[in-house]
Amino acid sequence: MSHLILKDINKIYPNGFHAVHNFNLAVEKGEFIVFVGPSGCGKSTTLRMIAGLEDISKGELLIDGERANEWGPREREVAMVFQSYALYPQMTVFDNIAFGLELMGVDEDEIDRRVKNTAEILGLTEYLDRLPRALSGGQRQRVAIGRAIVRKVGIFLMDEPLSNLDAKQRVTMRSEIAQIHRNTGATTIYVTHDQTEAMTLADRIVVMKDGYVQQVGTPKELYFEPVNVFVAGFIGEPPMNFLRDTLTDGCMRFGEQKIDLRKKPGARIAEYEGREIILGFRPEAVSMQPVPDACALTANVELTEMLGDNANVYIEKDGARAILKTTPFEMPETDTEITFYVPYSQIYLFDGETEYVIQ
Ligand code: ATP
Repeated sequence: MSHLILKDINKIYPNGFHAVHNFNLAVEKGEFIVFVGPSGCGKSTTLRMIAGLEDISKGELLIDGERANEWGPREREVAMVFQSYALYPQMTVFDNIAFGLELMGVDEDEIDRRVKNTAEILGLTEYLDRLPRALSGGQRQRVAIGRAIVRKVGIFLMDEPLSNLDAKQRVTMRSEIAQIHRNTGATTIYVTHDQTEAMTLADRIVVMKDGYVQQVGTPKELYFEPVNVFVAGFIGEPPMNFLRDTLTDGCMRFGEQKIDLRKKPGARIAEYEGREIILGFRPEAVSMQPVPDACALTANVELTEMLGDNANVYIEKDGARAILKTTPFEMPETDTEITFYVPYSQIYLFDGETEYVIQ
């Protein structure tokens, strides 16, 4: 039996706005699930329904096989970490972490032991007497996480916990969260709009858009087997390149140059002849040297971005544009003409109307 099951969950706010549509997911014990998607897609609403902070309008939430829709937040044995930290400003770090245990009536010695143990795990031992205002953003976030893990609940819910940190702190805290998850083994649901956080932390990712789940899968599945243009474009940085064209004689065009899709193994394109399709290829899937079974294309270099470990190359040909990712050693000069190679196996095809992948 899965630890947590969401069955056709819907949220309709009192003003009539339908924020979440038929959300289905079974979460195994100890799994790290990330909800990802653009602002307003319903990630937080879904998390808050799991937490018991928001009513479920339709559908069923099961925790360890039991219907939990009517349970209060405490009965659900979940701990939530918010983006805002939500620390009590007048309480020390120790008291902030201890507060939940005091409410639960845990005895003083046990509280002392558990708070100190948690502080140790999170590197907060030397700050236990400080007030939140005397801490950095990263340290405050650690206290917020400490408050959640000290309760030793089975389900850990995190809503954009890193969004108030600077870029460097985010990377550090990201690996700390992964480490904490390994140590506690708690089932975790984590909300973010950052695909890098999603890809690095998740066992499985749920991609959402406009209140609908688009795809559920491991980071690898989402990267290699996106079901639609939205998921394909959301996962990966820079995003996948898309070319929209009418399929003519089995070919698509990049500018005026033909890409012969009959050379793509297993491409089921016959029924698309004369219809619009979307061709996608990832910036990092191209090669700057000839490779077997690849389509050779030429283009002009409009702009380059040297990032150190790689470079982004913005190209244009007859009005068609794309971004290529190269090693820093291969980065071409701006305003030169280059030839690049797109392996047919790395080409994705989507229905121009539904934007779903052509199997
Ligand atoms: P963000 O990343 O910006 O937090 P999100 O994906 O978490 O976005 P939600 O906060 O779940 O999105 O909101 C989903 C949709 O529901 C949004 O369009 C939002 O405006 C709407 N919404 C949220 N709360 C309410 C409310 N109390 N009443 C009506 N609509 C709401």
